[in-house]
Amino acid sequence: MLKPGSRIGILGGGQLGRMLAMSAARLGFDVHIFTPEDNSPAARVAAATIVAPYEDLSAVARFAAGVDVITYEFENVPVETAQAAAENAPLRPGVKALEVCQDRVAEKSFVNVAGLETTLWRAVTTEDEAEAAIVALGVPAILKTCRLGYDGKGQQVIREASAARGAFAALGGVPCILEAFAPFEREVSVVAARGVDGAVAAYPLVENHHEGGILRTTIAPAPGADALADEALRIATGVLAGLDYVGVLAVELFAMGDGRLLVNEIAPRVHNTGHWTMDACAFSQFEQHIRAVAGWPLGDPSPHSAARMENLIGADALRWQELASEPGACVHLYGKGEAREGRKMGHVNRLSPLP
Ligand code: AMP
Repeated sequence: MLKPGSRIGILGGGQLGRMLAMSAARLGFDVHIFTPEDNSPAARVAAATIVAPYEDLSAVARFAAGVDVITYEFENVPVETAQAAAENAPLRPGVKALEVCQDRVAEKSFVNVAGLETTLWRAVTTEDEAEAAIVALGVPAILKTCRLGYDGKGQQVIREASAARGAFAALGGVPCILEAFAPFEREVSVVAARGVDGAVAAYPLVENHHEGGILRTTIAPAPGADALADEALRIATGVLAGLDYVGVLAVELFAMGDGRLLVNEIAPRVHNTGHWTMDACAFSQFEQHIRAVAGWPLGDPSPHSAARMENLIGADALRWQELASEPGACVHLYGKGEAREGRKMGHVNRLSPLP
């Protein structure tokens, strides 16, 4: 177990790093941030920060040599950066989680090998393969770039087989995955942690609503979560063990309405759909992650309240005065200056008694 006063390094300086740093501080740790961004949300609550590009491996090595353990808050940290860090301090979670989760084909293959269900999919690297894949999977289907897609970017819905070649070209001819459209009832996720000792703790399944590809609301626990709890735990445990993971991750799922949960995506980090835990659980996802990477026992993930989490996106954050005056609204703001459209500026948790 890492002693209080130890230094935890975080690769990435966004709001997730900020909330991790605040939880780490509560447990007596000092957080050092590595980020390419000046004046980042995390840097403003951290003990120390190095601002350098992820590609500056000597800066990464210097950063890592100055801390006792390293983690990341951003799943697109380059693998070479993570490797350079891992040569100088324990990296938790490890490089494998990044390798798997940065590439949709690697991710879906990993999930299926772990015995977990996804929608049907095919790897696509040429226009011919795009056409063959659409013949195999049928329409509608979704073509996604393997790398660097987020919030619905880098995706094309294919409604007619004849559109497959053009969709592949429109995505830039880069390696893609074609996924059969999953006729889900709703989107849910499970946020779970694994400790250094292999212990697993999962928060209850939550229901997520998106607008314009961006998470808008999380309802926690998801209505009917109890009936899906065993399956959600099986999935979380399979993913965590398969990645030999230490820390918190999220698995985004499609609830099919018949008890099946299909894995859509794994986020190897604390996750927006876990922000409700900050106010509705004794141990938030951020504290849980810090406990895990510090080698501490995991906290109890059971909530004391139900919660509805609303993201404050762009101009929503200008409502801060009204929110601050709303009885019972737990307001979290990320200290980002400019309320640009689509930018996650903060969130609000509203609690209610557990059903
Ligand atoms: P992703 O970036 O893969 O999480 O996809 C963004 C959103 O697109 C998801 O949250 C779903 O709403 C939708 N989506 C992605 N893949 C599928 C699929 N195979 N079937 C149906 N909807 C999907």
